[in-house]
Amino acid sequence: MGNRLSGKVAIVTGGNRGIGRAIAERLADEDAMVVVGDLRDDRSADSGSLERLTFMSLDVTKEASIRAFVDDVLQKFGRIDVLVNNAGMVIHKSIDEQTAEDWDRLMAVNLRGPFLMAKYVVPEMRRIGVGAIVNIGSVEGFMVNPWHTAYAATKAGVHGLTLGLSVDLGPDGIRCNTVCPGWIDTELNRAYVELHPDRSLVERELGQLHPVGRIGTPKEIANAVLWLASDESSFVSGEMIAVDGARTKKISLPSILDEEYRAKLTKPQS
Ligand code: NDP
Repeated sequence: MGNRLSGKVAIVTGGNRGIGRAIAERLADEDAMVVVGDLRDDRSADSGSLERLTFMSLDVTKEASIRAFVDDVLQKFGRIDVLVNNAGMVIHKSIDEQTAEDWDRLMAVNLRGPFLMAKYVVPEMRRIGVGAIVNIGSVEGFMVNPWHTAYAATKAGVHGLTLGLSVDLGPDGIRCNTVCPGWIDTELNRAYVELHPDRSLVERELGQLHPVGRIGTPKEIANAVLWLASDESSFVSGEMIAVDGARTKKISLPSILDEEYRAKLTKPQS
C-alpha cells in the first residue's frame, strides 16, 4: 500500500468489474477513499481493498441519479478530488442493423454520462481549488473495429470532451485527461472474441497485433489512471494517452510480409 492519494476522495463510475474495478482498487491501494458508482451494488465481490471502497448505486444515463450520487458522496466524505469516468458499453452492429435507440443508448452511457458527471462534480472541485478528471476513452476514438461506428463516435466524443474540459477548467486548478486503452481482457469485448469458435487462436492473433506481443490487463490501465489522478502529473492536462502496447503505432502489412515479425512476437524474449 502506498500514499500517493492520501487524503483524497475519488469517484470511479462503472467500478463493479473489469477496468473500473482495477482502477478503484489501485486508487484505494494508494490511500484514496474511493466511491464506486455502478448500476448494481457489488460490495460482496472479493477485494483486498474493500475497506477503502464504498459502493453506491449510480446510473450515468440519468441526471437525477448523478445528482443524488454526488450529493451522497459529499455528505459522506465532504470533498471530491478525483473523478474517473469509466462506465461504458459497446454494441457490435453494422450501420444497417443499428437502430436509433442503440445509438442513443451508447451516447447516453459513454458520452453524455461523462459530461453530466463532470457537470455535477466540477462545482465541488472548484470549491476546493483542485481536481483531476480522468476519462476512459479508447484507441477506437482514433481507429475503429468493424461494426463499431457508434462506439467509435462516442469515444472520439470523449476525447473532444477532454480537450474542452481541460481548457475551460484549467484556470480553476482542475486537470482533465483521457486514458485510451487498447485491447483489454474484460467482459466488454468477450462477445467479439467469441465470434470465432477457436478462442485460443483468436487470443494468439490478438496478441500478435500488439508490438509488445500480448493484450493488456485492467491493472495496466489502472496504473496510468493513477498517475493522471495524482499530483505526479500536475502539468499534464488535455491529453489522450494510449495504453495499448503500441498497437496503434504499427502500420498494417500484408500478413504474408509480416510473418517474420509475427513469429518473433510468439518467441519468448531473452
Ligand atoms: P465492462 O463491461 O467489463 O464493465 C463496464 C462497467 O460499467 C460494468 O460494471 C457496468 O455495469 C458499468 N455500467 C454500464 N452502464 C452503466 C451505467 N449506465 N451507469 C453506471 N455504470 C454502468 O467494461 P470494461 O471494464 O472493459 O470497460 C471499461 C471502460 O473501458 C469503458 O468505458 C470501455 O469503453 C473502455 N474500454 C475498454 C476496452 C477493453 O478492451 N475492455 C478498450 C478500450 C476502452 P453492469 O455490469 O451492471 O452493466
